[in-house]
Amino acid sequence: VGCKLKAAGEVGVGTAEVAENRILVFVRLRPMSKKEEEAGSTSCVKIVNKKEVYLTEYASENDYLRLKRVRGRHFCFDSAFPDSTTQAEVYSTSTADLVEGVLQGRNGTVFCYGATGAGKTYTMLGTMENPGIMVLAIKDLFSKVRQRSHDGNHSIQLSYLEIYNETVRDLLSPGRPLHLREDKQGIVAAGLTQYRAYSTDEVMKLLQRGNKNRTTEPTRVNETSSRSHAILQVVVEYRSMDGVNIVTRVGKLSLIDLAGSERAMATEQRTQRSIEGANINRSLLTLSSCINALVEGKKHIPYRNSKLTQLLKDSLGGSCNTVMVANISPSNLSYGETQNTLHWADRAKEIKTKAFTTANEEVLNVAYSETDQAKLLLELQKE
Ligand code: ADP
Ligand code: MG
Repeated sequence: VGCKLKAAGEVGVGTAEVAENRILVFVRLRPMSKKEEEAGSTSCVKIVNKKEVYLTEYASENDYLRLKRVRGRHFCFDSAFPDSTTQAEVYSTSTADLVEGVLQGRNGTVFCYGATGAGKTYTMLGTMENPGIMVLAIKDLFSKVRQRSHDGNHSIQLSYLEIYNETVRDLLSPGRPLHLREDKQGIVAAGLTQYRAYSTDEVMKLLQRGNKNRTTEPTRVNETSSRSHAILQVVVEYRSMDGVNIVTRVGKLSLIDLAGSERAMATEQRTQRSIEGANINRSLLTLSSCINALVEGKKHIPYRNSKLTQLLKDSLGGSCNTVMVANISPSNLSYGETQNTLHWADRAKEIKTKAFTTANEEVLNVAYSETDQAKLLLELQKE
């Protein structure tokens, strides 16, 4: 089976430069769990090579070759990670380039998609011993900013929020629901805590504490809800003096641990009423509608139908480098969910995004008088 994927466009660096790009899609297979083993699971997923995944309904490890031609389907992605892949490998392949882009003023988004138990939170947050993308990205940002401290001033601000039942909550300082509003940078949650970060350890603790604040299902008190989306936003602001000009750049990195996909995406045909009756996750359902509309090149993309898609608007259709990590279990007991996840991951490959920088030298050139200039210089020195 040939593994053909259109190359992602090169992203330009510099003022007002725009590059067309498509969403990069990765698949990560997790190891079989004890529970799955005890239930007598066989593996229905095979990572064939660096890009190719094979899914088959009836194969066990042993009869994989025999059944290959009978049933099953091959999928191609930008990378297919086998269950031995380390957190660091997943980070460097999927997210490291986006982090570099954020420092250049380009927005980046990574989201983990998949059924409950497929490995989304492990991939995004990870554990103290094996930190995931969120922590590794921030660690990388700190080290890159430190290396570049001679040529300007960077500030790194974090916020961590949850969408649960179409309600947005601050995971760093839980309290009343937050409202979304539109500002210059896109849709933002009003009143969200902006945390100025200084060290990686502090960030890991902060995120783990935040994760404990995720809404739990009433019936499963000790588990984080499979219906809550967690979004970490990291805003990197850069300022420097270039002769008499002030250069500013702002880049935003959004790292998203989505709710479990099992109850939402397969049910597109449902009416609004049955969606609410069945307590289907409206945000995920709308995400699938938006993906469909974007792939089909529709004029109207229904971003406004959910909180998640409002927040992801500029990541899906707009000015962003976007990565999707599809998490899957190897067990044949999860065959349906895995098929569903691979189906959406496959569709997401068709989505085009545009990435442009927010460098705005010209604007600032004309806007500042000499006294303003001096004031700003003082401020910069103070920071
Ligand atoms: P999700 O967030 O998708 O519901 P989790 O990330 O909580 O799933 O993963 C379910 C379980 O599997 C957890 O105990 C997690 O530690 C484990 N797990 C997931 N992915 C991996 C992996 N790549 N390697 C080792 N353990 C994993
Ligand atoms: Mg989870």
